[in-house]
Parts: sequence; C-alpha cells; structure tokens
Amino acid sequence: MMETISVVVPCFNEQEAIPLFYSAFLKETAGMDVAFEFWFVDDGSTDGTLEALKRLRAEDPRVKYISFSRNFGKESAMYAGMEASTGNYVVIMDVDLQDPPALLPKMLQGIRQEGYDCVATRRVTRAGEPKIRSFFARMFYRLINRISKTEIVDGARDFRMMTRQMVDSILSLHEVSRFSKGIFSWVGYRTKWLEYENIARVAGETKWSFWKLLLYSIDGIIGFSTLPLAIASVVGVLFCLIAFVLILFFFFKTIIWGDPVAGFPATICIILLLGGIQLFCIGILGQYLSKTYLETKRRPIYIAREIAGKGE
Ligand code: UDP
Ligand code: MG
Repeated sequence: MMETISVVVPCFNEQEAIPLFYSAFLKETAGMDVAFEFWFVDDGSTDGTLEALKRLRAEDPRVKYISFSRNFGKESAMYAGMEASTGNYVVIMDVDLQDPPALLPKMLQGIRQEGYDCVATRRVTRAGEPKIRSFFARMFYRLINRISKTEIVDGARDFRMMTRQMVDSILSLHEVSRFSKGIFSWVGYRTKWLEYENIARVAGETKWSFWKLLLYSIDGIIGFSTLPLAIASVVGVLFCLIAFVLILFFFFKTIIWGDPVAGFPATICIILLLGGIQLFCIGILGQYLSKTYLETKRRPIYIAREIAGKGE
C-alpha cells in the first residue's frame, strides 16, 4: 500500500495565501510516489481563511481542517494538526510558501533511504529581515545554547518531516507553553539538516511583531533552562563576601582613625544597587512561578470550534 504524508499547515489570516500554497504544493510534488493528506489549522482567523479552506475541501477531500475558537498561536496550531494527522510521515509547513514544497522529495529520501527519523530545515541567511531583529535573534541563540542542555539550532524553521514515531513522542509532551524548537530537539531521534536561503512571503504579512518574538524567546529560555534561577544564589553569595570584607575594613578604619561621618552617597548607591538586584532576582522567580502556575491549571493546548475530515 502507498504510504501517506500528512501536511500540517497553520494558518492565521491567510485567505490569499491558501489557494496559492495548495496549487504550488501539488505542482512541486507531482512526481512523488506517496499519497497526501492536508491538515490546515485555522488559528482563529478573522478574515476569509475558513471559507477558503471550505472551498478547497469541496474540491479535494484530501483537504481537512480544524478551526480554532480563537487565536491560540502557531505552536498550538502545529500541535492540533499533528494530533489529527494519520499519515506515516508528517511535514509541517507555513502557508506563505516560505517553506519550499520542492524540498519534499529530498526530505522523504532522508527518512526512507538514509534512515533518519526527521529531516529538518534551517535558513542560512536572514536577508529581507530588519537588521536589529537579526541581531537580537543571534544574541538569543547564543544565550540559550549556553544555558540550556537542549540544543536550539540557529535559523531552524518549523518546516520539517518526521516519522509517525517521532510525532507521537512530540505529542506526548503536554506542556501548554510550547517552544517547538526546543521540543523537537528534546525528544531526540536522528535529524538531518537541510539548508536553504530565506524566501519572501508570497502574500499577506508576517504575524510576528518584535514584542511577540521577545515574549516567545523568554518562553524558550524558561522552558528549556533553569539556570536563571541560580543567578540569585550566585549574586547573593558574591555580595555577602563583598559585604564581609567591607565590614572588616570599616571596623578597623574606625578604630584606627576615628569616624568622620561621611559616605552618605555611597550608602544610597549601595541600597539602590542591592534593591535592584533583589527585585531582578525576584522577577526571575516570578517568571518561573507564573509558568508553573499556568501549567498546573492543565488547560487544553487549543479549543476547536469546527473540525472537518477527522477519521477519513
Ligand atoms: N501562524 C499561526 N498562528 C499565529 C501566527 C502565525 O498559525 O498566531 C501561522 C501563519 O499563518 C503562517 C505561519 O504560522 O502559516 C508562519 O507565520 P509567519 O509567516 O507570520 O511567520 P514568519 O514566517 O514571518 O516567521
Ligand atoms: Mg512566514
């Protein structure tokens, strides 16, 4: 029997891109000896995304979709798509054609012939992106790889093909604040990396603001490293040592030379400095606590308003 690839496509306000993606995909993959199943996930779009999906499904029953009750984010959309998928392999793709479907034969070959569990992609250029964003992205990868035991690959995209076994492992991680770049790497398995140049979006606009990316990077750090929690202890010990030396110094200074009352500015500076460090450390604790709080509620990763094509 012919094997099936499930194509998981998160869509958020992508009414123009959906038909373009669908036709480009079929054109580029025409020669492959596999069957396809599409799982489009409408992530709470407010435009005609759901209607576009319904039109596609009316033409092609291989097109299936899940429509969320609101915007849950791409991470939740990928989870929902993978959960609904039934194929032997799963490939995750953006609908804006920034993930070239022409790579699929190579990906499939990596899994079938070369024995990998996953063929992932990373872009080697950040052309077409604001300079300041590239700078912060590079800093983020340097930082997180230094403090996390899980390798987070710079420039890695979510565009990857995985075996059913690996997908099931990913689905077994139920955390609500999902940082896929970390999760893909955390579950292990043998991954082959393909590299390609950045490609511009075919239609619509990027959904990532600088602020959203910053919050996402904090999710990544909190999710895959507990090192920041140790900062308070290290800084605390350091300042105790400094304080101890200073106490001895002033004690003997006063005994030997007497005490002409001075040092008021220094006192203020020290109080401010210590206060700042304390608040900073409490802030870090707060970040972990808030994540823990949200995880303990065990809320679902997504809520579907409509599903079409399940069990077909
Ligand atoms: N996306 C989504 N939910 C969101 C934001 C984005 O499902 O809240 C989808 C979006 O429709 C696209 C993919 O995730 O298919 C990547 O988004 P985008 O192109 O905006 O990100 P970029 O390629 O700029 O990193
Ligand atoms: Mg994109």
